[in-house]
Amino acid sequence: MKIVCIGAGYVGGPTMAMIAYKCPEIQVVVVDINQARIDAWNQLDGCELPIYEPGLEEVVQAARGRNLFFSSDTHKHVAEGDIIFVSVNTPTKTRGVGAGKAADLTYWEGAARMIASVSTTSKIVVEKSTVPVKTAEAIEKVLRRNCADPNVQFEILSNPEFLAEGTAIEDLTVPDRVLIGGKETESGQRALAVLKSVYQHWVPDERILCTNLWSAELSKLTANAMLAQRISSVNTISALCEATGADVQQVAHSIGTDSRIGPKFLNASVGFGGSCFQKDILNLVYICEGVGLKQVADYWQSVVSINDYQKQRFVERIIEAMFNTISGKKIAVLGFAFKKDTGDTRETPAIDVCKGLTQDGAKLVIYDPKVTEAQIHQDLATPKFEWDHPQSSGTKSPRSSAITVVEDAYEACEGAHGITILTEWDEFKKLDFEKIYASMMKPAFVFDGRNILDHAKLREIGYIVYALGKPLDP
Ligand code: NAD
Repeated sequence: MKIVCIGAGYVGGPTMAMIAYKCPEIQVVVVDINQARIDAWNQLDGCELPIYEPGLEEVVQAARGRNLFFSSDTHKHVAEGDIIFVSVNTPTKTRGVGAGKAADLTYWEGAARMIASVSTTSKIVVEKSTVPVKTAEAIEKVLRRNCADPNVQFEILSNPEFLAEGTAIEDLTVPDRVLIGGKETESGQRALAVLKSVYQHWVPDERILCTNLWSAELSKLTANAMLAQRISSVNTISALCEATGADVQQVAHSIGTDSRIGPKFLNASVGFGGSCFQKDILNLVYICEGVGLKQVADYWQSVVSINDYQKQRFVERIIEAMFNTISGKKIAVLGFAFKKDTGDTRETPAIDVCKGLTQDGAKLVIYDPKVTEAQIHQDLATPKFEWDHPQSSGTKSPRSSAITVVEDAYEACEGAHGITILTEWDEFKKLDFEKIYASMMKPAFVFDGRNILDHAKLREIGYIVYALGKPLDP
């Protein structure tokens, strides 16, 4: 059996590496039109892979060259494949009908046309990308009508990916579940059994869930919407805590011990980020609107609105605490990635927070252990789309002179008036805050956007501390 995956990104790379690692008798080839990305996946020992994930390097090194290959020769490998995963990007549309909400399926359709044009043997085509419900219907038409050989059959399966960046290898090794959706026809069920047999190499049967195609497609959007909703819910409570003297961590612990609620995903924060949550909720909103479910659409839209509100609220709190003026003040930004253990900055809340602070005249010195200087400058120079963030419409890109990126947390904090924690990197918890305090302007502020620091200890040292959802300093 030969498996080919179109798209060597955050999902295609790790998922295929895991399949190759666990199934040594299956040949796995990951193809991409981005030659630089393929070259990076093929780097020999000592060079960094194109994405950072704990444990990924070991898995890739064990299988690469044995039964795992990365190539830009897309046509050749797709033509030879039995199972073709499609793991291309499906971003939010930026123009035309549905701009700002609908999923842009340009890359998906391009991949489907290419599969059809090179296929001389029947294939199972697997939706690995997150796509709107009913995408398989459209893809089937594209495949069938673009393949010259009438004997070639395509069977489409939906196999959405639930890995989380930062824990991708752990999530792939011991997944909560693997979801496979297929048609309820005989050939659909046959294809489903073939894909199931791949996962059965390491995933127990009870964790492989089989559904119809539309349920699998919709489950992925729903899972992301529910996870983001939990974050927005606890973030609304963090605002209420600040107004009443309650402590959001105590509230989260109290409700999380209820087995119907559970303790995960209840950390108040400066907001969710990443390439998926906002994109997938907006897509859900668009689908609901399309079928006339306006109230349902409004409900899910509010999850994104609250996320924007939380970022804006955090910026306002910083300005207010620093005596209503941050103009010319140096603020150290610790963390830029959207979460710890990844270098991914897509939709990171740090972008909005940094833009908000520089808009008010602050000078930022940014440090993140895994995000490059070039990436940070690029993210902060990109103008926003008004429809993405209505509250902050009119926000301009900050002047680049207002932003410095350094390679050390202590350097970032030196001479600063305040420190903001925007990513929950473990190394920030271990910093010597006494030493940092001595190097800062006074009064020295800490704004903990992730609630990871020991606030009592910081206050003892002399800092004025603002933490989300926590009682304010007297
Ligand atoms: P990505 O942008 O990192 O990777 C996509 C890759 O596809 C790119 O390298 C691009 O060059 C390549 N590509 C696009 N069109 C191509 C074509 N025609 N032929 C060959 N290569 C092509 O995206 P990602 O983060 O890996 O996400 C992929 C999909 O998985 C998205 O739909 C996303 O919503 C979903 N997803 C992402 C995550 C995540 O944590 N990133 C988790 C679950 C699901």
